[in-house]
Amino acid sequence: MLHVKNLTFSYNKTPVLKSISFDAKPGEHVAIIGESGSGKSTLLKVLYGEYDLDKGEILWNKQKVLGPKYNLVVGYDFMKYVAQEFDLMPFITVAENIGKFLSRFYPEEKERRTAELLEVVELTQFANIKVKTLSGGQKQRVALARALAKQPEIILLDEPFSHIDNFKKQSLRRSVFKYLKEKNITCIVATHDKEDVLGFADRMIVLNENKIAVNDVPETLYKNPKTPLIASFFGEFNIINDKIIYAHQLQVVEKSDLIVTVKQSYFKGHYYLIEADFNGEQVFFEYNKQATEGSVLHLEIVE
Ligand code: ADP
Ligand code: MG
Repeated sequence: MLHVKNLTFSYNKTPVLKSISFDAKPGEHVAIIGESGSGKSTLLKVLYGEYDLDKGEILWNKQKVLGPKYNLVVGYDFMKYVAQEFDLMPFITVAENIGKFLSRFYPEEKERRTAELLEVVELTQFANIKVKTLSGGQKQRVALARALAKQPEIILLDEPFSHIDNFKKQSLRRSVFKYLKEKNITCIVATHDKEDVLGFADRMIVLNENKIAVNDVPETLYKNPKTPLIASFFGEFNIINDKIIYAHQLQVVEKSDLIVTVKQSYFKGHYYLIEADFNGEQVFFEYNKQATEGSVLHLEIVE
């Protein structure tokens, strides 16, 4: 169990994290979200023991996580961290990078483990390729596999799929998060991608103004976003009569009092996102067809 109590941290004198407290159970998947610069990466680095805290405490079970002032070598065996900028060994192969920290006294086990992880990150065909020839996204996957090689109890992932193209992202995300659940590895994932959260995270922590704004189950936050910041993470939304209404909650009907004039249609795949004007205010809604500029439509809120 990860136990974060009243954590406060600043770079020099600028406070970045103030009184952060939360827990993560074994095998739990906690997503850390927040705008760029809100302190997501800093929080992961601090959890890893890369910096000394101003105040507070980090515990993994009974073990205190200490910063460099109290710990000669940063990090612990039970915890792994995959940064946004991954440092791999460029002149050796993918498989060698992954197996680097596995004991060479058990060559069969080392081989089995490396093969298993190559499969998790979908790089089996690249096993014998030198890392320096890989793309950014492929390197990111090697870094992930390497962090899992000596199975940690908790893993900290900083935007783990940010360099990976959309063709691969979906299946890779399923594969990695499924693996972590199966092995009961706690994971703390900093992300700005809602696809990393919905369908995977057990809890979602929103960082805002140096603090935890909310910590709740993603489904609860999605269904009842208390603030525009939370709603904006999930998608396009409107504020109508002081209520947050997602674009998909507005439906075109024959007749209503919510009469809008279409300004623009954006093709989104199975629907169009329509930008319209309602008494001088911008309104977004989803529609199953394109709407021509200037046309007048009636909308209804569906909850
Ligand atoms: P996020 O990952 O949410 O984008 P960061 O944790 O990277 O946010 O940054 C949080 C704040 O801390 C930002 O204002 C950033 O400029 C600042 N910051 C990040 N790293 C350092 C550093 N090494 N030294 C000083 N300030 C930093
Ligand atoms: Mg970051």
